[in-house]
Amino acid sequence: MRSENIYGEFGICDGLMSLAAEAEASLRDRFLKIDSDLEYNQLKVVKAMQDCGVSEACMLETTGYGYNDIGRDKLEEVYARIFRTEDALVRSQIICGTHALTVALSGNLRPGDEILSPVGLPYDTIQKVIGISDARGSLKEYGISFNCVDLKPDGSFDYDGIRAALNDRTRLIEIQRSRGYSARRTFSVKEIGDLIGFIKGIKPDVIVLVDNCYGEYTEHMEPSEVGADMVVGSLIKNPGGGIAPVGGYIAGTESCVGNAAARLSGPGLEKELGPSLGNNRLLYQGTFLAPQVTASALKGACFASFIYNSLGFDVSPEPLEDRHDIIQAITLGDPEKVISFCRGIQAAAAVDAFVRPEPSPMPGYDSDIIMADGCFISGSSIELSADGPLREPYTVFFQGGLTYAHSKLGVLMSAQALINDGLIKL
Ligand SMILES: *Cc1c(COP(=O)(O)O)cnc(C)c1O
Repeated sequence: MRSENIYGEFGICDGLMSLAAEAEASLRDRFLKIDSDLEYNQLKVVKAMQDCGVSEACMLETTGYGYNDIGRDKLEEVYARIFRTEDALVRSQIICGTHALTVALSGNLRPGDEILSPVGLPYDTIQKVIGISDARGSLKEYGISFNCVDLKPDGSFDYDGIRAALNDRTRLIEIQRSRGYSARRTFSVKEIGDLIGFIKGIKPDVIVLVDNCYGEYTEHMEPSEVGADMVVGSLIKNPGGGIAPVGGYIAGTESCVGNAAARLSGPGLEKELGPSLGNNRLLYQGTFLAPQVTASALKGACFASFIYNSLGFDVSPEPLEDRHDIIQAITLGDPEKVISFCRGIQAAAAVDAFVRPEPSPMPGYDSDIIMADGCFISGSSIELSADGPLREPYTVFFQGGLTYAHSKLGVLMSAQALINDGLIKL
C-alpha cells in the first residue's frame, strides 16, 4: 500500500500502476536471467581484481606527469583480465567514447590506410572523426579513407558485399556493437565473432576494432573474446558503474593499445604518463559496481519496452527479446511526443528534476536533439536518461538508471507526461 502511495506522490495514475504490475509479472523470467548474468559478471570483476592484487595503495592519487601511478597501472591490468586482452588503456584523460575511438583509430592508422565498417554507417559523432561528414582534423584530412557496407534489408551481414569491399588498403575494420541512434538491431557477441571470423578468413592481418559503447557486461563475454583486436568504450556508460566521473578505455592487443597510448600522450611517452588525479578510487569502485548497474539498466529497458509496447508504440528490442546493450528505442512518431517523453524522464531525476529540456543542436550531431539527463555526472548515459534526435521517425532512445527502481520511475513518469499532455490515452 505504501509503495503505491509513494508513486501517487510522483503523480503516477492508478491505470499506469496496474500496467506496471502487469509488466513486472510478465518480465519475471527475463529479470531472473539478467540477475544470473549479473552474478557471473560480478564474480568475473572480483576475480580480476583479486588476481591483479588490487590493494589500498591503488586508491591513492598522482599528479603532474603521473609517473609510477600503481593504481592506474593496476586498473589497466584489471581491465585486460576482464576483457581477456593483452593490455588496456583506462584513463581519466580520455574524455568520452568519441575521444576513446578517436585515439584508437588515429593511433592505429597511417596515411593511405582504409577503414571498413561492415555494419553500415557508424555513430553520428564518429562520422566527423572519420571525415564522412566534414570536420576539422578528421582522419580524412590525414589521407585515411573510409568504406562502408550496409546491412542487408533483413538486418543480416552482407558477406558478399564485405568480401568485395576488402582491399589492399583495408587496414582496420570498425564494428559498432550497439545500435546508437539508428534503427538497426544491436549485435550479440556471437554475431560479432562470426563476422570477425569471416573477415579474418579473408584478410588475417586486418585490425578489428569494436565500438563497445553500451554493450559492456550485458553478456558473459565481450567482443575481445571472439577475435576483436581492440574494444573501446566510455566510462560514463556501463563500465564506469555510474561512479567514474570521466574516462574511456581501450582494451586489446599490446600493439593496438601501445599505438593508441602513443597518440593519447605522445610518441615515446605512451602509457608511462597520465596522472590519475583523485580518480583511482572512483574508477575502481565504478568497475566493481558496473555489472550491477548494467543489470539495473537492462531491467529498466525491458520495463520501458513492455510499457510502451502495451501503449501501442513500436519498440526495439521487444520486451522479451535478448539484449546486447542497454538501449531501448521507442518510436513515438511525433516530435511533440518525443519532447514530452524526455520531459517526463527529466522530472524523475534526482538531480535537476525541475529543469525543462528543450531541443537544441549538439556538437557532433547533425539534427537537433532533446536530452533528459538529470545526472550526478554531466552527460552520463548510464544514469537515467533519454535522447531524442528531432528527426523522422521520431524515435526516442531510453537508457540507464543506476537502480532498477529509478529506471522504473523514469519510464512511468515519461508515460504520465504523455498522458498529462493529452498525447496518449490509457
Ligand atoms: C555513446 C556512443 C559513442 C560515444 O559517445 P560519447 O558521447 O562521445 O561518449 C560512440 N558509439 C556509440 C555506439 C555510442 O553509443
